[in-house]
Amino acid sequence: MKLATKMIHAGAHPDPGTGAIMTPIFQTSTYVQEAPGKNKGFEYARSQNPTRQALEEAFALIENGKFGLAFSSGVAATDAVIKLLSPGDEVIAASDMYGGTYRLFTKVFERFGIVFRYVDTTNLEEVAAAVTLNTRLIWLETPTNPLMNVTDIEGVSQIAKKAGALLCVDNTFASPYLQNPLDLGADIVMHSATKYLGGHSDVIQGALMMNDSTLREKLYFIQKSCGAVPGPMDCFLVLRGIKTLHLRMQRHCENGAVVAHWLRNHPKVGKVYWCGFTDHPGYAIASRQMRGFGGMMSFELKDDSLQAAQQVLSSTHLFALAESLGGVESLINHPASMTHASIPREERLKNGLTDSLIRLSVGVEDAEDLIADLTTAIG
Ligand SMILES: *Cc1c(COP(=O)(O)O)cnc(C)c1O
Repeated sequence: MKLATKMIHAGAHPDPGTGAIMTPIFQTSTYVQEAPGKNKGFEYARSQNPTRQALEEAFALIENGKFGLAFSSGVAATDAVIKLLSPGDEVIAASDMYGGTYRLFTKVFERFGIVFRYVDTTNLEEVAAAVTLNTRLIWLETPTNPLMNVTDIEGVSQIAKKAGALLCVDNTFASPYLQNPLDLGADIVMHSATKYLGGHSDVIQGALMMNDSTLREKLYFIQKSCGAVPGPMDCFLVLRGIKTLHLRMQRHCENGAVVAHWLRNHPKVGKVYWCGFTDHPGYAIASRQMRGFGGMMSFELKDDSLQAAQQVLSSTHLFALAESLGGVESLINHPASMTHASIPREERLKNGLTDSLIRLSVGVEDAEDLIADLTTAIG
């Protein structure tokens, strides 16, 4: 099945009771049993829910995986992956990644004796050098948030295999329309379904996709034992979102290219971070492992004062000043004070995340209107 067909038909089966083409929202906590232990495969909704099941089937299909699991948020999905580990186990993680992932690793799981080593994953030698006998997991994000660094997934997967460690890729920024890490050797794909999968800024949700059945059993056990499951209404919304993922992503990519090139040619704009520029250090890898470059980008102003950035951030009208990304509407964000405020300033600066950096999630509006909005704001 090709991409667009997959997005529309993934997990879709007419309801056996009524023929309803859309999976119903099974808003129930429990299921009546015919006799003790005799049921229709559904016992209690933390363990099984038909709406969630349809979504999990869709998750698997759109990432070319065998299995999918849905969680109540992206960080809950990440939390489940780290719970595969035991005290003393080591994780190699990207030094430039989503602030909430960094917070979960450093503030929660370090206390449980998991050891995290942060490296520049765009440099395969650095990744290989961080491997020890205790390495159990490599955690990647590509392209990264917000600096759009690109890591060679296949290259890291070879290091992980040699080390006997799992590779998990946070594929939120690219979405399954642009990149499929399982095909490149990853063991687990993680998504904040809150972003492109849901696509309409109306739901918080997370996803894991995988091929290995033993790994699926372990993660399913964690999902039901720890209980971070999404409600059926949220599952319905994400199922619906996925049906237009390919259409939205095509427009995100088109608008992204227009806005990125416009920013780059603007006299008041400094560095623009977007992996579709041919001189982006990760361009060759991105072209190989992605089908397009998306609508996420960051930029600095030539006047690198916080004040100048704040002026732009508070002057846009179509670009709403908000955390999050991947919705149909364009958003503007200040990583240093918003999405990445949980990362200490020195750590941020080390990775090039300056106080004046501005991140855009370019939506699916008309590009001309987006440019007009930025023209007013930047001057
Ligand atoms: C938003 C986000 C997360 C966290 O997901 P939530 O759904 O907000 O819990 C993880 N990784 C990336 C790249 C994100 O953008």
